[in-house]
Amino acid sequence: MDSQGAFTYRDLLDASSRVASALLAGREDLHEDRVAFLITPGFPWVAVQWGIWQAGGIAVPLPLNSTKPELEYLVDDTAASALLFDAPAVALLGSIAADRRIRALPYEDLLAFQSAGLPEVTSERRAMILYTSGTTSRSKGVVTTHANIAAQIMSLVEAWEWSADDAILLCLPLHHVHGIINVVSCALWSGATCHMLPRFDANAVWDHIAGGKITLFMAVPTVYTKLIAAWDAASPSRRADLSKACARLRLMVSGSAALPVSTLQRWKEISGHTLLERYGMTEIGMALSNPLRGERVPGSVGTPLPGVEVRLVGGNGEPVPTGTPGEIEVRGPNVFAEYWGQPAATRGAFRDGWFRTGDTAVIEGSVYRILGRTNVDILKTGGHKVSALEIEEALREHPAVAECAVVGVPDPEWGERVAAAVVLNDGAALDLSSLRAWAKESLAPHKLPSRLLVLDALPRNALGKVVKPTLVAMFQTAAMRRSLTRGGGRDVC
Ligand code: AMP
Repeated sequence: MDSQGAFTYRDLLDASSRVASALLAGREDLHEDRVAFLITPGFPWVAVQWGIWQAGGIAVPLPLNSTKPELEYLVDDTAASALLFDAPAVALLGSIAADRRIRALPYEDLLAFQSAGLPEVTSERRAMILYTSGTTSRSKGVVTTHANIAAQIMSLVEAWEWSADDAILLCLPLHHVHGIINVVSCALWSGATCHMLPRFDANAVWDHIAGGKITLFMAVPTVYTKLIAAWDAASPSRRADLSKACARLRLMVSGSAALPVSTLQRWKEISGHTLLERYGMTEIGMALSNPLRGERVPGSVGTPLPGVEVRLVGGNGEPVPTGTPGEIEVRGPNVFAEYWGQPAATRGAFRDGWFRTGDTAVIEGSVYRILGRTNVDILKTGGHKVSALEIEEALREHPAVAECAVVGVPDPEWGERVAAAVVLNDGAALDLSSLRAWAKESLAPHKLPSRLLVLDALPRNALGKVVKPTLVAMFQTAAMRRSLTRGGGRDVC
């Protein structure tokens, strides 16, 4: 279901086989040609993805709201043989296709084709390329086969007990594993209903929840923050209606970034749901999840999902004892095939058949807690290793702090300095010394921030994740400005 109306599975098979015929244009099989597409989330998006697959191609979903150079990078990196798009993208993709003399196919034109014979596509064939966070020239294309995608879907369908009676609302972008696999593909695999919003809008999401037809909801932490703000802004009677409507859902899930415990608690007050937090990434789909039934531990991501093996290893590649932090490694049929055109990066990403996620976690009790990206969130300061996520969790408790992100800023004396960027609640004020004095109660001295930036908004990507390298650069720029204006020497800004 989308803004254009309701569509059946029969409609989807019909539209996708027309798309496939248009792509094949008389050929028997696309033989893994890459087909890139820029389409607003909705029925046409799915018809195009399935059409590419039916024709034997590799689907390359492009991110909406990208600049021309960003799209050109993705089209060139995948050497796409055709570009598909809907009306809003005609001008942009039409000119990119023309410059490269590749086929440009508007969605509306595809439907005029008659379905023809389709090739056999085996599950080992490559199916999709998703680019890792961001669309810079450094981002890598993650290639998954049909078998990888099926394994990622089946694991979630089993763990979260999807059925044809389910109905889910998509409000996430469709160039990322969360929206594509966890929401749309799991729904279609199960014969469930998928309501698709073209883009996130807090009030539209609440209207759908209030409509009472949704059984499942999955989103990133920032979406829950925005839904909480919209609930807070609603009238008392609407609030009561919205909270009541949440009781009709059977499951609400959060992931793709750390869920602040304060958000989990506030959401529980509003909706009655303890959010199920899970952990995954583009290369592996989902790996760890709190249970559908049973205790969900705030701040944890639970245990390995069905069919997925997970272990924590130290710097020497050996498994660490329980309770010791280590890098998460993942093995299983869900793990991607390769980085597109980057054999060295692919080789470097695996150790003895295990995929090295680059995330650090620790097992506490019997559940995993994510400590962050090893190279970004595990700060090395004065000989200590500290988790940025743990410090963020503590600082969010400060009454003046609305949002917070912690990074390590390179420093000749300390290795890295703990640097906190905050967005303050309306009318609140905060300086470094008062924050440190307050945080001393909950954080050891080496975890206390020695730099503070107060911002209007944290730099975030399309999925709402804080872009930490940008934040580090902001701290460095701020420090440089201060040293220029004050003659340098200060540790705080
Ligand atoms: P992406 O490939 O864009 O989905 O990003 C994957 C990364 O998001 C992981 O490598 C983690 O660093 C982070 N991530 C995903 N889920 C969680 C979670 N529940 N808690 C903390 N970090 C997460």
